[in-house]
Amino acid sequence: MEVFLHYLKSFTLWELFKGLSLTGRRFIDKKVTIQYPEEKTPQSPRFRGLHALRRYSNGEERCIACKLCEAVCPALAITIESEVRDDGTRRTSKYEIDLTKCIFCGFCEESCPVDSIVETRHFEYHGEKRGDLLMTKEKLLANAERFEEQIAADRESESRYR
Ligand code: SF4
Ligand code: SF4
Repeated sequence: MEVFLHYLKSFTLWELFKGLSLTGRRFIDKKVTIQYPEEKTPQSPRFRGLHALRRYSNGEERCIACKLCEAVCPALAITIESEVRDDGTRRTSKYEIDLTKCIFCGFCEESCPVDSIVETRHFEYHGEKRGDLLMTKEKLLANAERFEEQIAADRESESRYR
């Protein structure tokens, strides 16, 4: 019986029509693909993209060099060196994130007591030469300047769920 069914399916092109029926059904379904980069998918306010090191509105760096982010980073991607300023406050003299090691887990931003290191929604970046993906303190501060409006709005909306 099994052999008979096998031959029957072969001669009636059963598998072919089965496949075509699936194609036909998907043809009229709502499309799920988008035309990137012209079209973008929605992003969560908690999206974990490129890092940024924020300042307060008076221009002062938020980071107090507590090194919690460095300690919690599972990929050992963060390197921090600190110094004490003349006014007795402690700040970083070096803050680097190696994006080639980073797994974008978000632990660094979760651990930061002053909302300094954050992950922005920006993900369209690349590196072309050695060092391009090593985010230095200057690059991270510049990222924060560039995306501060979005970062602040996301922190605000997120605070409702914390
Ligand atoms: S996102 Fe995760 S892996 Fe990347 S720097 Fe932060 S803690 Fe490390
Ligand atoms: S970014 Fe935040 S957690 Fe990391 S050293 Fe600075 S204050 Fe501490």
